[in-house]
Amino acid sequence: MPVIGNKLDGFTESIIRKMTRICNQYGAINLSQGFPDFDPPKEITNSLKLVAKEGPHQYEITWGSAEFRKKLAVKQKNFMGLDIDPDNEIVVTCGSTEAMMAAIMTACNPGDKVIIFSPFYENYMADAILCGVEPIYVALRPPCFNFDKEELRAAFKQGVKALILCNPNNPTGKVFAYDELKFIADLAEEYDAFVITDEVYEHIIFRPYKHTYFASLPGMFDRTISCSSLSKTYSITGWRLGYIIAPRYIIEGARKVHDFLTVGAAAPLQKAVLAGLDLPLSYYETLQEQYQSKRELFLAGLDELGLKYYEPQGAYFVMVDMSEFGFTSDENLCYWLAREIGVGAVPGSSFFREPVNNYIRLHFAKKEETLKEALNRLEKLREIPEVYAI
Ligand code: GLN
Repeated sequence: MPVIGNKLDGFTESIIRKMTRICNQYGAINLSQGFPDFDPPKEITNSLKLVAKEGPHQYEITWGSAEFRKKLAVKQKNFMGLDIDPDNEIVVTCGSTEAMMAAIMTACNPGDKVIIFSPFYENYMADAILCGVEPIYVALRPPCFNFDKEELRAAFKQGVKALILCNPNNPTGKVFAYDELKFIADLAEEYDAFVITDEVYEHIIFRPYKHTYFASLPGMFDRTISCSSLSKTYSITGWRLGYIIAPRYIIEGARKVHDFLTVGAAAPLQKAVLAGLDLPLSYYETLQEQYQSKRELFLAGLDELGLKYYEPQGAYFVMVDMSEFGFTSDENLCYWLAREIGVGAVPGSSFFREPVNNYIRLHFAKKEETLKEALNRLEKLREIPEVYAI
């Protein structure tokens, strides 16, 4: 029989999504793959009912419906502080997953080098391999997940075409400070590289931290490919609606890539979500408050359990340091947690390039009662001696 392509040997299936299947198998509370167990705003679900009746049900313009792009430009101006031309500076994609892949394909040629901070959201490595680019990893060093400036400069010096920046950061919960971003911006300018951002957690930031959109830094719009999605902002991860915002010369390329990858994001969903894009600013404030209180509840629970973790500044993940249990495989630990404790987590090693395996990633995008139940279950952790033998 013919042999399938060997590119695929370079990465495994997604561990995050595998953990969801494992949670389903054992009936575990899924704190692994990050998605909410609460409903989207009713404005959006009501609008979906109407769209079912009235359409559209056929293709939209490949780079996104005109109404969607117009409303998105208005919403993003409020947050990014940038005037975005909806006709020339936006492509609507199937989630930020497609946005990131299309951005790399647009910016890079096979063989180009791309900086990825490690730990990293696992898609980026697969994206790099599928696009034929070479990842240059720069460590975000635990326990504070800061990068070393000289290490970053040395990476740029190797002649990189782009840097991938996930901010607020998955999996660490770090929110890059303004001076860190400015340092990256200066290097991007000096070495003439693109910056491809993944900002899907832009609206989940904890006090007192602030999110700075990379594209809003002085002079950076011209070299930034901003990717984001509506998944987390409106609790609609299954709708697969994302977008790229970039200057026209980049968008012209990204439109072509997107057109041949997917033709377009689902037309009925683009229409239904307009009700979300129309929501007042108070919606985003309430969302922040809701996540702030979930974070407080969850971290207080982890404190009570005596678990050590990095305090998330944004996004909805927490990296919990499990070294005290002395296991050898964090992957086996996560299978065990799902099976015996009934809580799903992602093995930290799946995010790190370096040999780091003392973390698990938990997320708290869940109803209060779900989080409380998960914390109750985690109480058993120290009661089962078997955990020390994994
Ligand atoms: N971003 C979420 C996570 O890291 C969900 C990712 C996904 O599976 N698309 O868990």
